[in-house]
Amino acid sequence: MSALELRDVVKHYSTGAEVVRAVDDVSLSILPGEFVALYGPSGSGKTTLLMLAAGLMDPDGGEVLFGGRQLARMSTRERSRYRRDEVGFVFQSFHLIEGASALDNAALKLLGDGCSMRQAHRRVRPWLERVGLGERLTEPPSRLSMGERQRVAIARALANEPRLLLADEPTGNLDSKRSRQVLALLRELAHEHAVSVLLVTHDSQAIEVADRIHTLRDGHLADGLDAELALPSLL
Ligand code: ADP
Ligand code: MG
Repeated sequence: MSALELRDVVKHYSTGAEVVRAVDDVSLSILPGEFVALYGPSGSGKTTLLMLAAGLMDPDGGEVLFGGRQLARMSTRERSRYRRDEVGFVFQSFHLIEGASALDNAALKLLGDGCSMRQAHRRVRPWLERVGLGERLTEPPSRLSMGERQRVAIARALANEPRLLLADEPTGNLDSKRSRQVLALLRELAHEHAVSVLLVTHDSQAIEVADRIHTLRDGHLADGLDAELALPSLL
């Protein structure tokens, strides 16, 4: 069964007299352990689509389902449990706390769930080791490279073993070598832990690592890569 499924999803924003169809009739389903990339330029609806998948906003039309259950039909409590327990988020700008160690940063999400600091450290340490930061546990973000910071954020997102990882341009602040490493890591983690990864990006390197790629343009989803869109960044 699909982990995440979007059926004919529509989301618009009204600003004054203008209506923007940010997500326009999108259908998509992702299996457990599958790494799917949506490639689209700025303004194509990528972030909106992830917020819908995370249950952070409701669609104006269509349905978002997780494990066959419609998010819109969940109670407030079930919905917050979904967001807290099933979904991990990775952002372009990492969202790490300056001055806190890699270990504390990665433990943060667990602390919010009522875990003690010691328990949180114990759970998160293997994830930091897995992403290659076993020797960097006590370093604050300012002493980590951009690639390392993103790997701390990935460890944080996965620490409570969510079944869905949503990544919003996670390589947007990385050079191409670090981008490739982070993308390869996301792919490995998806396959190792049967986490479904939905990555949205305008980094064309994602094409090489994703199990499946779609193109998003003006809120419309198309299968595969739109060569015309991708060409400038591939050259
Ligand atoms: P992307 O992440 O691909 O850049 P977004 O999902 O942020 O795309 O935006 C898709 C479209 O919706 C854009 O045209 C954007 O200007 C518009 N948009 C996004 N958020 C809002 C908002 N809160 N209010 C009005 N328009 C918005
Ligand atoms: Mg965006």
